[in-house]
Amino acid sequence: MKKYVRKAVLDLKAYEVNDAGYSIKLDANEGIDWYDGLNRYPDNQAVKLVKALSDVTEKKESELIVGNGSSELIELILKTFLEPQEYVVSIDPTFSMYKIFTTIYNGKYEGYKLVDNQYCDIEDFIEFISKMKAKIVILSNPNNPTGSFIEKESIEKILKGSDAIVVIDEAYIEFSSGSVIDLINEYENLIVLRTFSKAYAVAGIRLGYLAANESIVKYIKRVKSPYNLNAISQEIGLKALDSIDVVNKNIELIKEEREKVWKSLYKLGLNPIPSYANFILFQGDDKLNDYLKSFGILVREFGGDLKGYIRVTIGTREENDKVIEKIGRYYNEKCPN
Ligand SMILES: *Cc1c(COP(=O)(O)O)cnc(C)c1O
Repeated sequence: MKKYVRKAVLDLKAYEVNDAGYSIKLDANEGIDWYDGLNRYPDNQAVKLVKALSDVTEKKESELIVGNGSSELIELILKTFLEPQEYVVSIDPTFSMYKIFTTIYNGKYEGYKLVDNQYCDIEDFIEFISKMKAKIVILSNPNNPTGSFIEKESIEKILKGSDAIVVIDEAYIEFSSGSVIDLINEYENLIVLRTFSKAYAVAGIRLGYLAANESIVKYIKRVKSPYNLNAISQEIGLKALDSIDVVNKNIELIKEEREKVWKSLYKLGLNPIPSYANFILFQGDDKLNDYLKSFGILVREFGGDLKGYIRVTIGTREENDKVIEKIGRYYNEKCPN
């Protein structure tokens, strides 16, 4: 594991928080309480939340780190492993933050083009990884914005076939299956990312977590800021885990709605990509976005190679019906039959 770690981090010690018991606490320059104990710094290791996540994921507490959204965890991974000029490799198209963070940390970034924006030839991708001498491979799986999915067996091939740190960003895994989180003890170079922003539907609290074997976790903790996860997010995160029944019900609803929306887009001839997430990417056109906007409907459009493509999130039944109705009307007005 050590061979992956940045030189600066090898010499670093994690920030130590004094957590001895006390009757009077005057060691951290905190103020006098006026709001439910929020004068205190939060638990640096978010012990209760990590314990609850450990139960849910069946991973050890020492194999988990919580963060201020998975975005913070992506940054921590780069800070731990990526020296300037080293390569981060992903697929293309994918989540734009991978490239942005890589650039911020002075790395180089290369995306392997998916065929028809959805298929990845794994053997060829593994060759690409080694040709680029990638230090880090990061894959959104299911992939944002295409909704496509790389099977677990293929991820294992990448883990076996390359010498990089392999980060699997499972932001949308609850809408799919085939998580690789159970493989973290088999592969010392595997990191799995999860978020509370999508299926758990609490994007507002900015909560994500990372699972990896202890030796990786130990190094990443060295670069983590103390108290990175605030007290309110720790509390609501626990509540979200406690509310798993509501969350699961919504996931089922979204999966049903996803098939309905997909079929409607397909019938309109818009080539929707089969989705394993809570959104669908399809071929609209330049004007569709403006048309929908005129009704106050926001969808995501793209530039570059994805010009004309639209990504629509699966919302409530009423929202989805409305959007489908408007898209249908747009194409009928444009080209009445
Ligand atoms: C939405 C999303 C995230 C979540 O980021 P947070 O910082 O946890 O809100 C991570 N990765 C991908 C690919 C996403 O689409």
